[in-house]
Amino acid sequence: MMQSIANLADKVQAGGRLSAAEALDLYRSAPTALLGQLADGVRARKHPDNIVTYIIDRNVNYTNVCVAKCNFCAFYRPVGSAEGYVLGFDELFRKIDETIAVGGVQLLLQGGHNPDLPLAWYEDLFRTIKQRYPSFKLHALSPPEVIHLSRLSQLSVPEVLNRLIAAGLDSVPGGGAEILVDRVRKLLHCYGKATADEWLDVMRHAHRAGLRTTATMMYGTVETDEERLEHLLRLRALQDETGGFTAFITWSYQPEHTELGGTEATGIDYLRTLAIARLVLDNFDNLQASWVTQGGKVGQLSLAYGANDMGSVMIEENVVRAAGAAYCMDEVEIVRNIEDAGFAAKRRNMHYDVLGDPIFRERDVPRMMELATARTEGDTSIPSELRLYPARSKTGKTERAQ
Ligand code: SF4
Repeated sequence: MMQSIANLADKVQAGGRLSAAEALDLYRSAPTALLGQLADGVRARKHPDNIVTYIIDRNVNYTNVCVAKCNFCAFYRPVGSAEGYVLGFDELFRKIDETIAVGGVQLLLQGGHNPDLPLAWYEDLFRTIKQRYPSFKLHALSPPEVIHLSRLSQLSVPEVLNRLIAAGLDSVPGGGAEILVDRVRKLLHCYGKATADEWLDVMRHAHRAGLRTTATMMYGTVETDEERLEHLLRLRALQDETGGFTAFITWSYQPEHTELGGTEATGIDYLRTLAIARLVLDNFDNLQASWVTQGGKVGQLSLAYGANDMGSVMIEENVVRAAGAAYCMDEVEIVRNIEDAGFAAKRRNMHYDVLGDPIFRERDVPRMMELATARTEGDTSIPSELRLYPARSKTGKTERAQ
């Protein structure tokens, strides 16, 4: 082993903070087993109780219509596409009922940048959900969606956030970060939806407004190792400033059916990336395992490479499935993976408060062996309440005038 790697390992073990150059040395040159051992050491220091958590929530994509057209995305449909959809309020209530039936506590609600859904649609939706389900949480609208709404409504980002918070927004998911380096964002056609600074700024405002948020990284497209680390360092700097991030989640780009194409990063790349994230993000408490893109086995291995959380019991998934990943684990499976790895499994909420033991041990819950989708295939129905909201696109205007 190179001497400098041994020194860096000592530094990490002594609780020291890695510089960009040191992190790059470790990421490029440390043996995978050593990276895992160091990341596991940090995980054990931060979580000495031997608990691995998970959340029961539902990942709902309210629309797939999107004007952003990121070239790594297989999920979106352009305005006017016959395959475009917007979920109706009633469909969303049904999804919440099903989520509550399996012990779920929140919706992770994200969608495309649909020009025909004005801010009032979101406010009405959030208010109605909160009226019907007062203790149910809304973890909703990633930073690029907030920016889209700010442009559409011509209100500032803090104003949009305040309106959404008043309507019932509880926390903001860290989606749409991809790699927070503008060179990469331009190549991925996602610079227009949010620059790196704009993404971070939404999170800064959300934290200042008292919301907690998560942070993500999608790696494995066109970025360099240095750029992956730059992404992590930018998150670390904002976390130093606000302390508002609860968790970090990384996953590999899923290339199937995308315009960008290419190949998927390996499982080893995933584990090394997760481990270096644990080492660089010394001010983040929680790292999630991404078993939805990596599968159950690598997901389980993540617990030895720095992760202390298994993420969400997936009831529904539409985005990575559109790009070829379709792993499904219900609560029984998640808990089995956690316990087989030698940890105690506990349910949590978005704030990482432990809610209790696995719910299936407390009461009968239906098992979900398949992932639900946003809508059954071929269902092109248009929700009736959409007529109440002005459309911006030509197609939307014509449709609503009928
Ligand atoms: S990643 Fe999001 S913003 Fe980009 S095209 Fe897909 S749905 Fe639209």
